[in-house]
Amino acid sequence: MHKQSGMRIMDHLQSNIEKRPGGVVRASFPKLIDGPVYLNGSNSVGSYGANSYLIIGESGNWMVDSPRFEPALVEQFRQWGGISQIFLTHRDDVADAARYARAFGAERVIHARDRSAQPDAEMIIKGREETVLGPARLIPTPGHTQGHAVLLWQDKYLFTGDHLFWSQEERALRSGRDYCWYSWIEQIRSVEKLAAYSGVEWVLPGHGGRKQIPRGEFPELIRESVQWMKRVA
Ligand SMILES: [Zn+2]
Repeated sequence: MHKQSGMRIMDHLQSNIEKRPGGVVRASFPKLIDGPVYLNGSNSVGSYGANSYLIIGESGNWMVDSPRFEPALVEQFRQWGGISQIFLTHRDDVADAARYARAFGAERVIHARDRSAQPDAEMIIKGREETVLGPARLIPTPGHTQGHAVLLWQDKYLFTGDHLFWSQEERALRSGRDYCWYSWIEQIRSVEKLAAYSGVEWVLPGHGGRKQIPRGEFPELIRESVQWMKRVA
């Protein structure tokens, strides 16, 4: 998200940033979500309070967006074999990515259109077509920002950054109409194309609700979401 958007962002920050004394990472983080996916905690104001995740991979662990740089988190990641890639969904949620990259010799991956937030990133994806790197599909989803991208892991875990989240209120997948910095029309297209990934069973956003989705129901949820996006356009 973004610092220009006032009070509701403060709500996000207050709900996402753990209140804890003395910079000690709570023992409950990283917290297992499902399978290889952990929630890092230590949400950083440098990422506008966004959630970040760690994925345990057979040929290297991936971090999705960046938490605050915390020695206790670094130590935990070390015990799990380090980090090989840091995928940055977009320019807003980069926080301490460079420090984590240095600590682990990790490659930072970001889309060319948002590269200005991380100009020395080691790997740049381009265009609108997906890039496949082992179990990870990197799917450009312009809209919230021009260079936003999502990561789909093993065709099941979709890390959506600020592109898409689960709304508890509406019991539906939603996007932040008021937080769309680049193009809502583009964002509609970028949500629509996710319907092709029918195996998605988890939506794991930077802000907003996470959701486990019954197998096979993702495309219909996307279609409903697109209809809503067009109504509020
Ligand atoms: Zn954002």
